Amino acid sequence: MFYYNITFLKAKFLLLYLITRFIIISMRRKTKAVLVGKVKIGGLALVSVQSMTKTDTRDIKATVRQIRELEKLGCEIIRIAVPDYQSALSLPRIKKSIRIPIEVDIHFNPKLALESIKQGIDAVRLNPGNMTDKEPLIEIVKSAKRARIPIRVGINSGSVRGWYRSALRHEIVRRSGPAYGISPANKIPSKQSQILSRAALEYIRFLEFLNFHNIMVSLKSSDVISTIEAYRELSTRCDYPFHLGITASGTIIDATVKSSIGIGVLLLEGIGDTIRVSITGPPEDEVRIGYKILESLGLRKQGLEIISCPTCARCKIDIVRITEKVKSRIERIPELSASGGSAFGRKDKNIKVAIMGCVVNGPGEAEDCDVGIAGGQNFGFLFKHGIRIRKVPESKIVSELIKEIKAI
Ligand code: SF4
Repeated sequence: MFYYNITFLKAKFLLLYLITRFIIISMRRKTKAVLVGKVKIGGLALVSVQSMTKTDTRDIKATVRQIRELEKLGCEIIRIAVPDYQSALSLPRIKKSIRIPIEVDIHFNPKLALESIKQGIDAVRLNPGNMTDKEPLIEIVKSAKRARIPIRVGINSGSVRGWYRSALRHEIVRRSGPAYGISPANKIPSKQSQILSRAALEYIRFLEFLNFHNIMVSLKSSDVISTIEAYRELSTRCDYPFHLGITASGTIIDATVKSSIGIGVLLLEGIGDTIRVSITGPPEDEVRIGYKILESLGLRKQGLEIISCPTCARCKIDIVRITEKVKSRIERIPELSASGGSAFGRKDKNIKVAIMGCVVNGPGEAEDCDVGIAGGQNFGFLFKHGIRIRKVPESKIVSELIKEIKAI
């Protein structure tokens, strides 16, 4: 009877999960698919998580070390800034030492884009705000076509406004007409979101004019609302996959809140194909938070999820210590971690664990998880697959939880 109940509950969880996933996936915006190395972006592929190195690209050892740490956490694409020739020349050695594809980040100097493509990278990000000359752009497009790699049109609020306004006032319109530049019929948009989306569209139209369609787009502003509105607007005007992010979003708390809202709202509306959480801080946190956003929306599963209560006066066990200990023990157990050290647990199983302080919400949350604990006076009731299985003293809660998680 006990095992019958467990099997029934497991089947119920699985069915609910599959229905939720189906609803979320079927609501996603249909886009063209683009390949960055072996990672598919758009075309209903899983939303991927990417980050950016924060080392000097010329320091190959440090850059590779950082990327390998990010790979362990599940980073799927790495962006690398290429501010000079020596950085471009470092790329083959970096690429040889890592597993994930490289997107180079190029500003101002088109020759660095050409050199990076020559060195065998997987995608190139151009900033329309500082890469405007037609002739070099044509060369980059030719080169990307030959290498069969995509270009990301990466708009940033900090660099596009001035370009957009001066482009409208000056030569691009006169020289190129509607083929590139702002169509004379368009007025200068007043809202930042309109500037971002229209500037991207003008750049996209020029790439299309060159018969180039291997395109991804990002429209990042440091303002969450402008970012959301810009992506919404552009989503009705093209079907290229979107890279989502909030730029210059600050240190960890600010960045987490802004990114979760900005990226989360768009993903819930079905918009977005790959994400990067920008943080003034370690890139490892960018990947961790990126996955947490996707997990929260049911778009990705990275193995283990722990829910824990905030504790209050009713709590008679040390929930903070227990939660931290369970997390750190899991990270150190190879068979429970994605790569012998990932914070996200094993990828082949989705395990949800509840660590709750008392009987108010504890039993309910614990019953809804694969494994859970609901605290009492210096003890906890242990739950597995919705059923209370035993009472354990506080000193044994961590080890008993780990034992039951391992057994799943
Ligand atoms: S589960 Fe209990 S201890 Fe935890 S916050 Fe809720 S009421 Fe407080």
